[in-house]
Amino acid sequence: MSDQTFDVAIVGAGLVGSSLALALRGTGLSVALIEARPPPALPHDASWDNRIYAISPGSANFLEGLGTWGELPAERIERIEAMAIFGDDGLARLDFNAYEAGLGELAYIAESRELQAILWRQIVAASDVTLFCPGECAALEIADKAANLTLRDGRTLSAKLIVAADGARSWVRSQAGIEAHDKDYRQLGVVANFTTEHPHHGTAYQWFQPEGVLAYLPLPGNRISIVWSVQQALANELLQLSPAALCERVALAGKMQLGVLELITSPAAFPLHLIEPRQLVKPRVALIGDAAHQVHPLAGQGVNLGFGDARELATVLMNRGARDVGDGLLLRRYERARREEIFAMAVATDGLQGLFNNAQPLLAWARNMGLSMTNRFTWIKHQLVKQALGNH
Ligand SMILES: Cc1cc2nc3c(=O)[nH]c(=O)nc-3n(C[C@H](O)[C@H](O)[C@H](O)COP(=O)(O)OP(=O)(O)OC[C@H]3O[C@@H](n4cnc5c(N)ncnc54)[C@H](O)[C@@H]3O)c2cc1C
Repeated sequence: MSDQTFDVAIVGAGLVGSSLALALRGTGLSVALIEARPPPALPHDASWDNRIYAISPGSANFLEGLGTWGELPAERIERIEAMAIFGDDGLARLDFNAYEAGLGELAYIAESRELQAILWRQIVAASDVTLFCPGECAALEIADKAANLTLRDGRTLSAKLIVAADGARSWVRSQAGIEAHDKDYRQLGVVANFTTEHPHHGTAYQWFQPEGVLAYLPLPGNRISIVWSVQQALANELLQLSPAALCERVALAGKMQLGVLELITSPAAFPLHLIEPRQLVKPRVALIGDAAHQVHPLAGQGVNLGFGDARELATVLMNRGARDVGDGLLLRRYERARREEIFAMAVATDGLQGLFNNAQPLLAWARNMGLSMTNRFTWIKHQLVKQALGNH
């Protein structure tokens, strides 16, 4: 017999799990949110998080609906108004511009810890979300009528539906026996923040180069955040450089586009994988966020896909009619609604990664030609922009 029973138990209060818990407020469903570690407190200085996200307008809308987006300090958000993408022949270039596409912005840049802190504050204040934190899972039993969870401290809870929002190495996913295909890119995503000599004018830059994909993402003021996806050996070399040497290396790799750089947040690195579970649901279990898909960060879409999952699962649960929230057929609606977008993103990011991570001369010609051709066709560019913005 469990200590407490719920309709929905969400394991993992990262950005995605937290957003689902908030989206279920006021629906009449009782929700448990289990998180091993609380988010770290916001620093008192004006430093910048080296984990930043390109948030699509669709995701910003979703967060707005949760009352989260409006709480972000405006001075810590940057709008991406243009993008410039460069091939590896020194000539090929693809430009996107919000103004030409009739849009206010292509995306926003926001810091992970600021978003997480606001979501956390809202969860703590939500009367219909019961927080188990620190709450580490020890055992999961999926039975006919409920999923039963035991925490390491001995507490037990049961729920009609258990949601895995516990990241790429999802414990819930493996306990539920859902297999996932895991492709190790043998790359690390190196992130760091810099001030720039020249203003970025809200432009994001991306270079596809033989040594990896480098992105300059605009932060407020003359600041940028980089994501440089490179082989592990090069990543380790970059992490060991002195600040001055790293600045020079990043500035040169970015063709001195924004002039001289100065390091403001130390670099960190994250292993890059493509993780594709065989299924997103089974009776009493649903996967969301990185537990449901991990994609290469070159398109900056991982958390956006995750917010899309949270929004869709909340909608399906709210429109369940008389069905049980853990009913397999009901959950298949969620899976059907998400499959295509997740698959398309996995194929696109994996394909682009592979296309540029290949020295074959014919491929080199084709990929650079592809960029230049796309640049000439406004309609195709508008379709690509629409895809990247999210649906709403
Ligand atoms: C270098 C890099 C750059 C990126 N840039 C972008 C970008 O610009 N835009 C974008 O959209 N995406 C980006 N991403 C992807 C993004 O980081 C992820 O998609 C996102 O963080 C996934 O969020 P999540 O909430 O699903 O998982 P996580 O952030 O991994 O959260 C999982 C949570 O579950 C908790 N947990 C885990 N196991 C347990 C357990 N057993 N019990 C209890 N709690 C548990 C963890 O403590 C954690 O809080 C980037 C990724 C990388 C590596």
